[in-house]
Amino acid sequence: MKNPNLLVVPFPVQGHVNPFMNFSQKMVEHGCKISFVNTDVSHKRVMSSVGKQESLEESATIKLVSIPDGLEADDDRSDLGKLCDSIVSTMPSMLEKLIEDIHVNGGDRITCIVADVIMGWALEVGRKLGIKGIFFCTASAAMFALKYNIPKLIQDGIIDSNGFPITKGTFQISPSMPSMETEAIWWSNVYNPTTEKKIFKYLVHCMQNSNLAKWCICNTTYELEPSTLSCVPKLLPVGPLLRSYDNTNVTARSLGQFWEEDHSCIDWLNQQPRSSVLYVAFGSFTLFDQNRFNELALGLDLINRPFLWVVRQDNKMAFPNEFLGSKGKIVGWTPQLKVLNHPSIACFLSHCGWNSIIEGLYSGVPFLCWPYFTDQFRNRNYICNELKVGLGLNSDENGLVSRWEIKKKLDRLTSDEQIRTRSLELKETVMNNIAEGGGSSENVGRLLSWLKS
Ligand code: UDP
Repeated sequence: MKNPNLLVVPFPVQGHVNPFMNFSQKMVEHGCKISFVNTDVSHKRVMSSVGKQESLEESATIKLVSIPDGLEADDDRSDLGKLCDSIVSTMPSMLEKLIEDIHVNGGDRITCIVADVIMGWALEVGRKLGIKGIFFCTASAAMFALKYNIPKLIQDGIIDSNGFPITKGTFQISPSMPSMETEAIWWSNVYNPTTEKKIFKYLVHCMQNSNLAKWCICNTTYELEPSTLSCVPKLLPVGPLLRSYDNTNVTARSLGQFWEEDHSCIDWLNQQPRSSVLYVAFGSFTLFDQNRFNELALGLDLINRPFLWVVRQDNKMAFPNEFLGSKGKIVGWTPQLKVLNHPSIACFLSHCGWNSIIEGLYSGVPFLCWPYFTDQFRNRNYICNELKVGLGLNSDENGLVSRWEIKKKLDRLTSDEQIRTRSLELKETVMNNIAEGGGSSENVGRLLSWLKS
């Protein structure tokens, strides 16, 4: 049997492209070939961020290919409702043509499609072309269970037919799963009902194809989400999926990034005392308004310790006049996993995106949680109340997280020995999963045997 030739289809945002790339690198290590399908816009961004470092070889085992998402070049892709509408009406036929072209042009036949759960329509394309499929959930297992159980949530009167929670409070998908707050219903946490309705409709459409997937894989581990995983037997944890930092291969280490990594922050971290630095990063989507930005900047002055702050080019606000920033370094985009693993890092001020959570847990770093939207509220509760490896920031009466709140919670976090100990214990557990014989490694083995059969 020839080595598997996988076609992978992530949702076109950074927080999905990254774990797909990490998964692809892992499969390549096991002899698979990959066609990595980005949208044209994501592809352009990925190429320009690696292009400055090194050009990609044509013969690479991960072939980057792209198809249009159906929007105009200057359309706002952060409007997720509009993006979902366009994806579903344009991309299935484009993907079908792409696969046929690969086959007609003498490329190896695609043996399996690995579709993002929220690109579930790709498995329908696979069914048409006689190609088997895997679902990949880049969020937590709990969030997969939520999507998977949408019909039940409607039937139980937890959400209405547009996906909105009917009442506020807690609910349980099944008696053996942990209860969730209704704020965990992530598609209703986007702050725009029209967009939320569109996202929900799109999700329902994608999830209808879950029966076409032989396996559903998830960037988590058995120990992190035991009861949820036992309720969804089809879901295989294969996490933590991590970027490979092979220093001999510059492109492999940054392939998939939408922004160029600024490695000067590592030199700066090298000069900081051990366990001293607050790392501040809010992923790829969070948008700060001027008030929130000002309080954060002034909070970083107040903490009186070194900080490394990621301020993305697309959300750069004016720094307040009083801001000194004398103890910090500000960069546009970091090699995040490398940063989190640096010995000078003390804790992570995060928006609680699932990738950031997994990377932080793997690095044994306590969290200061400041969620922005979607699943990040549930992720915060999970970090603070279930895993107990972080503290949440609270808003004041004006809905603002104040500079003093940042300082108060950071002081509390850094002096909490129990949180530090638990973070280090969890690090060990999470790491063991990807060592030989670990739960996630075994699951990757099962997946490979099936792919090769
Ligand atoms: N990331 C990075 N450099 C940065 C900030 C973020 O490489 O300066 C990566 C991070 O490692 C993670 C991804 O971007 O893999 C963000 O995903 P996450 O789920 O945390 O948040 P999202 O961007 O989806 O909100």
